[in-house]
Amino acid sequence: MDPIRIELPTGWSMGSVNAYLFTHPEIILVDTGDKAEDAWEALVDGLAAHGVAPRDISRVVITHPHVDHFGSARRIIDESDATVWIFEQGAPWLLESSTLWEQRANYYRDHFLPRTGLPAETRQLIVAGNEQLRSMAVSVPEERIIPFRAGGELHMGGMGWQIIHTPGHASTQTVFYQPETRQLISADMLLAVVPVPIVEHPPAGRRDRDPALPQFMRSLAALEALEVDRVYPGHGRPFDDHRAVIARQRERIESRKAQCLELIREGKSTIPELLEIMYSHQPPVGRVTGLWMLVGYLDLLIDDGLVREEELDGVSRYYPVPDRP
Ligand SMILES: [Zn+2]
Repeated sequence: MDPIRIELPTGWSMGSVNAYLFTHPEIILVDTGDKAEDAWEALVDGLAAHGVAPRDISRVVITHPHVDHFGSARRIIDESDATVWIFEQGAPWLLESSTLWEQRANYYRDHFLPRTGLPAETRQLIVAGNEQLRSMAVSVPEERIIPFRAGGELHMGGMGWQIIHTPGHASTQTVFYQPETRQLISADMLLAVVPVPIVEHPPAGRRDRDPALPQFMRSLAALEALEVDRVYPGHGRPFDDHRAVIARQRERIESRKAQCLELIREGKSTIPELLEIMYSHQPPVGRVTGLWMLVGYLDLLIDDGLVREEELDGVSRYYPVPDRP
């Protein structure tokens, strides 16, 4: 059977989030929406339209541990015998996640944000935004979690769905691909618009973070190689022209990256300078998304060997790498 889309409200500007329901051979819900009451009511209504109640769910599958995708997982398992399936690398965010949130907040506050050279009030807004997300997280007891591995398969709707690890928007995100019916549950990896490459704290034992946008580009190439007839995204309506969507996004990213390089070649060397020009269409308080994108473009340019980063008085500066003679 095809995944049934249940659209759920979020309190955020991106609008709604999708959960996907399989009603047989067992009742499986892929992603849950956030934990707000209106999202829960919409979920209960959406399930009821297909003759299902939360207590009937036997499995909850999470694409990635962002609060708009797993926020109702706890309430579902409290009302049912369901287990929660998630990529093994993402499972810690559902277990005892306070250490992880703490690490992320500390990384933003003490390392990443000071180096951006952004004013203190902007930095505080970003730290506060992270705290707000943290307040929307829920925990799931370990005995109810079943971690899965990339490369394996999930059985949903009577078919086997390949589990593909696609870091970029989130380092622990997975998408699910059904090769016979050529369907792809794409989470926030493939949306109609470019997803935000969110800056994450470095993995345990490492000093540097993983550059998210370069990872996203590689994940995009992996999805482009798949034969897909229907994409079921984490936000927005399902669509079918996945290669056209990917081509458009790549073009958009390439042109913004080129603009960023041009500005650096003109002598703009700091994040506030670049942000001011590239995101002048957004009010300063709304430039967090812009910041994640800009950091992504810089990561790509550094990866390409076109730009180098130097720290001066604790602030990152970006300079063009001269073309070789
Ligand atoms: Zn999302």
